[in-house]
Amino acid sequence: MHPTNRGPVLVTGGAGYVGSHACKALAAAGYTPVTYDNLSIGNRWAVQWGPLERGDILDVARLHEVMRAYRPVGVLHFAALALVGESMTQPGLYYRTNVTGALTLLDACRIHDVDAFVFSSTCAIYGTPETMPIREDSPARPINPYGASKLMVERILDDYDMAHGLRHVALRYFNAAGADPEGEIGEARDVETHLVPLAMEALMERHPPLQIFGTDYATRDGTAVRDYIHVADLAVAHVRALDGLLAGGPSLKLNLGTGRGHSVREVLNTCARAAGREVPHATGPRRPGDPPELVADPAAALEILGGDLLAHSQLDTIIDTAWAWHAAAHGRAAATRA
Ligand code: UDP
Repeated sequence: MHPTNRGPVLVTGGAGYVGSHACKALAAAGYTPVTYDNLSIGNRWAVQWGPLERGDILDVARLHEVMRAYRPVGVLHFAALALVGESMTQPGLYYRTNVTGALTLLDACRIHDVDAFVFSSTCAIYGTPETMPIREDSPARPINPYGASKLMVERILDDYDMAHGLRHVALRYFNAAGADPEGEIGEARDVETHLVPLAMEALMERHPPLQIFGTDYATRDGTAVRDYIHVADLAVAHVRALDGLLAGGPSLKLNLGTGRGHSVREVLNTCARAAGREVPHATGPRRPGDPPELVADPAAALEILGGDLLAHSQLDTIIDTAWAWHAAAHGRAAATRA
């Protein structure tokens, strides 16, 4: 199936949502993804394109053991906590997992001679930007511990590059959504807080009606605007970023969004079109910590990673693939119960 064997790549958090899609894309490009995951959030069934090594990102001995066994040519680092609200109430947990976790992994990379590191960063590092769309040189002023923890890792990455020649690409995601276009994997967490999967669950009536957080923003319909990017396009971006580093390219920070913003109501309308029925919903107050609008300027990513990068990131395609995945998963669950 693989055109070439380009070697093993360690994928921390490879059982998670974005990580598992990245594993599929790595395998399609000829790499062997080695998932390193403690399965605290990720799913064992999502690990389909290479071995699973259970382990915690803070477990130094286990990390060394896995890196010694596989000798990865590069690392994709997804293993982290990523909920803004939770980070506000448990900052210590976020800094320890995200910052100490990355530091532990980077030191293991140094020992095992890995100098190509692709990092899951986030638009949360920008806080509430004053100008839109957001460029990579927009001021980084995170407003919650989650964003602050990711920004700290970016700073550490710069220092490790300077001191040790360990090169990185930090990919600052906007809103990842959608599911594998071939339907093999999708977004599935025990505790869900994200708009698109919650809308899908509301459509399946597995969840109380979705609540729209805030209808009084200064946006076109009063609801918050986000830049949704398809998870399959994000996955390909990681592979191309790794390719660039392995070809000797420099460290980079890149926004991964589309440059198009969609309001919560527009997302729900698109879900309704895909499903053929309205998404049951109510309206409520703003969620603390939510900026009114976050839209990327993707020019740098498109130039460096390829102009065809956003092939799946039309909102219709994002929602159609998410709906197909959730409807099939719902069918599977019903069949298991029967
Ligand atoms: N949102 C909402 N209801 C929900 C979940 C999210 O109205 O139950 C809104 C949220 O306020 C934000 C957008 O949907 O404007 C995307 O939120 P999500 O949690 O998916 O991603 P985030 O932008 O926080 O990374």
